[in-house]
Amino acid sequence: MIDIKNLKKRFGDQIVLDGIDLTVGNGEVVAVIGPSGSGKSTLLRCLNLLEEPEEGMIQVGDIKINATSYTKKETYELRKQSAMVFQNYNLFKNKTVLENIAASLRITKKMSKTEAHQIAFGLLEQVGLTEKASAYPVTLSGGQQQRVGIARALAVNPTALLLDEPTSALDPELVSEVLQVIRSIAKKDTTMMIVTHELAFAREVADRVIFMADGHIIEQGRARDLFDHPKHERTKRFIKQIN
Ligand code: ADP
Ligand code: MG
Repeated sequence: MIDIKNLKKRFGDQIVLDGIDLTVGNGEVVAVIGPSGSGKSTLLRCLNLLEEPEEGMIQVGDIKINATSYTKKETYELRKQSAMVFQNYNLFKNKTVLENIAASLRITKKMSKTEAHQIAFGLLEQVGLTEKASAYPVTLSGGQQQRVGIARALAVNPTALLLDEPTSALDPELVSEVLQVIRSIAKKDTTMMIVTHELAFAREVADRVIFMADGHIIEQGRARDLFDHPKHERTKRFIKQIN
């Protein structure tokens, strides 16, 4: 579903991704953990070309691009394969909840308003927010806004869902409602990469955990192996620190 080979990204002199190799299978849930600045967000952003990688190969679904030479059309095709959930929701403030979700359907799938609204309403049901359909984002709690963000990402029926610290901007009491929604999506065999500091949650939903530091994948494995018996010194230190 996702295949990354020798992915490299630099910002100025700094090497942020130093030859990442990673394959995520169909329906697999992969949690990415690691210290701040290790390249986790850049990795997700490169996957749908929100950042331009410099070297390597990216494949999502059946779209494959070579980082050194890709076209506008390929960018567009690759972006359709994955959908991103951002830390700060990134909702349109001047659109209602329903319109926020319908907008991507109308743009990417050229749907009529009626059809897009119908599908958007179904997605709101999935995240438990039908009563907020005509509300504006500013009137919602952070947890509710993020649930809309997730519904919007799902709207385009992506091959893979990419979540970048989806709960880290939330007040502690709002975290669990968002995790509950992510949990229910993970159960439906959605292919997911989720950057998170919620180790207990990663342990519960992730088929595999990847520990990144300094632009490298240092260690990966099943959550209970990686958390309970980390092999590398850096992984040990990180897990001890965060617990
Ligand atoms: P993480 O998500 O693991 O915290 P990031 O991928 O956001 O790490 O960042 C990795 C490194 O790249 C950091 O040192 C960060 O400062 C740098 N970086 C990220 N985005 C940019 C950018 N747009 N311009 C310059 N440096 C960046
Ligand atoms: Mg980040």
